[in-house]
Amino acid sequence: MVDSISVLGSTGSVGVQTLDVAERLNIPVKAISGNKNIKLLEQLARRFNPEFVCAYDEDAAKNLKIALADTGIKVGSGLSGLTDCACAYAPCVVTAVSGSIGLIPTLAAIDEGHRIALANKETLVCGGEIVMRRAAEKGAEIIPVDSEHSAIFQCLEAQGTEKALKRILLTGSGGPFRGRSREETRNATPAMAVAHPNWNMGAKISVDSATMMNKGLEFIEAMHLFSVTPDEIKVIIHPESIIHSMVEYFDGCVIAQLGVPDMALPIQYALTYPERARCAASAPDFTAIGKFTFFEPDLEKTPCLALAMDCARRKGTAAAVMSAANEEAVALFLKEELCFGAISDIIAAAVQKLAVSGTPTLDVLQDADEAARCFVRENYSQY
Ligand code: MG
Repeated sequence: MVDSISVLGSTGSVGVQTLDVAERLNIPVKAISGNKNIKLLEQLARRFNPEFVCAYDEDAAKNLKIALADTGIKVGSGLSGLTDCACAYAPCVVTAVSGSIGLIPTLAAIDEGHRIALANKETLVCGGEIVMRRAAEKGAEIIPVDSEHSAIFQCLEAQGTEKALKRILLTGSGGPFRGRSREETRNATPAMAVAHPNWNMGAKISVDSATMMNKGLEFIEAMHLFSVTPDEIKVIIHPESIIHSMVEYFDGCVIAQLGVPDMALPIQYALTYPERARCAASAPDFTAIGKFTFFEPDLEKTPCLALAMDCARRKGTAAAVMSAANEEAVALFLKEELCFGAISDIIAAAVQKLAVSGTPTLDVLQDADEAARCFVRENYSQY
């Protein structure tokens, strides 16, 4: 089990659940970050007494500093504050921010040799090759928190010393619009899109689940985390969300990881690995569940998943452009400035216009990320 942690994105859904797990396991919390929600940041700071709190938003940080003046807790802001939070206080950082903003702080924590409990999939989608290479060089462990990747990670522990993996079976519930046509969901509202049948999550990832971009991002995340090719990953729709993913070995054996859909499980495992601690959640009640069902994904109805699988094959800056365009498109959708059906259209246009091949440097990836965001902001009214 880790000695202490810092948490990036502590005010989000995974961040708050991480702090609950840390409290239950008596793991000291040394640093936390949030963006603008200083009311919750102040509450968390008083509850966990970290050494450092970062409010990413500069104005929010000024107010937080005043609010915490009686405590002696240091307050920071911006990307430098986020980076300090990730690397200066604890040997393990839980990266629970949403979006590619997590990339630079994650690389900084890797440079310190810290354990990365990775709950920020966009970091690997944008800069997966650089992150994984750097982690190998620095001997930094990356333990996935995303439930599917935690499942795959656990299933791979059944592998011997020689590679015996045939393929990864990446499961997904299909989201709230499973089986619905593009015409039926074109004008779905944010309230409809964030109402996930099994998982209680933040707004961005909930919309990503509705578009199936989440499964697409996870496809690319899995490719980097487990060094497999796109052909070695198969997406399977499993609406019950009890099997969190599986691995198929050369001998025909398939190992699955099962659990109730509760993020406390993968969060706790990332902190206690290679040990297990008691009581993250109750085990599934199989006779109450009754049956498991499985379907092929329908790529015609889920253009975001199809696009992500295509970007995974294209390499270069395609995935970085796709993910950044998706972040902007989802933000506009949540503000009701872009319709649900246009999310995939504008991301596809951004990838077609901006993605380039080759082996991009960090600077090239960051420029591609920014160009994708500008493209969406400048063109969304035409969609
Ligand atoms: Mg997931």
